[in-house]
Amino acid sequence: MYIKEIKIKKILPCLTDQTRIRFYAELDNEIAELLPYLNRIIKNAIYNPTIQTLSIKITDSIVALYPNREIAAGYVKDTQTLQMICDWLKQKINYVYENKDKIEPLFEQKNKLGILEVYRLLPQTNCKKCGELTCLSFAAKVVSEEKNILSCSEIFYEDYSQKRKELFKLLRSCGYLVPKNFV
Ligand code: SF4
Repeated sequence: MYIKEIKIKKILPCLTDQTRIRFYAELDNEIAELLPYLNRIIKNAIYNPTIQTLSIKITDSIVALYPNREIAAGYVKDTQTLQMICDWLKQKINYVYENKDKIEPLFEQKNKLGILEVYRLLPQTNCKKCGELTCLSFAAKVVSEEKNILSCSEIFYEDYSQKRKELFKLLRSCGYLVPKNFV
């Protein structure tokens, strides 16, 4: 296992909400080289290539990973959540380390996806088969991850093949999950 331990260095009250905590921790191995891989697989990660830092929203906490093994997190609910965050990070880092040859690293900041960008590429028939009243409300739920694009069965008709290709490409570029076998 590449990362065996995340050592908690300091736990302090959160600066913005005294009922919550912030913490500082240290990894037992280098991860600078792994950050672009994590950037690729973690949808809401924001990678800053200039300072090689990755920020991730986990539950409602903001966690920053630095190239020098340091981790800083704020707005953490309690120590139980802190442990959950550390376990989650350990699992993700070990996963990218073990699967580096299958993941394409992403060295740039991901684009933020807009509802209208998704809507533009949907069939726009408002057929309701996805369970939404309109394609626009479906687009909003795709962006907020309440629904996956695969719930739109209409998009798989041949008439929409060009839109589908563009839409899947757009979603993938923004870090959304579209399985590789769907084109
Ligand atoms: S299934 Fe697709 S085409 Fe039909 S309403 Fe939902 S998003 Fe629109």
